[in-house]
Amino acid sequence: MSGLHFRDDIWLLSRLDWLWSGYFKDVKQTNPVFIKFGRFSKYRLGSIRLDRKTGHSHITITSMFKDETIPVAIIDHTIAHELCHYTHGFSAPGPRLHKYPHHGGVIKKELEGRGLHHLVKAYALWLKSYRKLLR
Ligand SMILES: [Zn+2]
Repeated sequence: MSGLHFRDDIWLLSRLDWLWSGYFKDVKQTNPVFIKFGRFSKYRLGSIRLDRKTGHSHITITSMFKDETIPVAIIDHTIAHELCHYTHGFSAPGPRLHKYPHHGGVIKKELEGRGLHHLVKAYALWLKSYRKLLR
């Protein structure tokens, strides 16, 4: 097989599947959820939106993360962050569990509660050096 480590949309989907089946198993997928690389953005790392017309959810990840010097944990953290929004009913068909998507550190709490502390830690560490790079 060629391109075993190449980061494309199929690779993203495999990361989403891995996270969902390993850490979000209790979260029912009530609509089709798609994931893909979007445009290159330094600040907006990921997003999730619900297409009201089709009822599909779309997760978009910055193309910056195609760079293989960026640890996989950082991409996993970004995907897991969007999965938390889905879990809380944002950009998902279900009811919203909070008024605001980032209310009072709910994402961090959700990630920690699901045993993803290592991703939170890896991201915080990466962010430190990344911020220096941005300056
Ligand atoms: Zn968010």
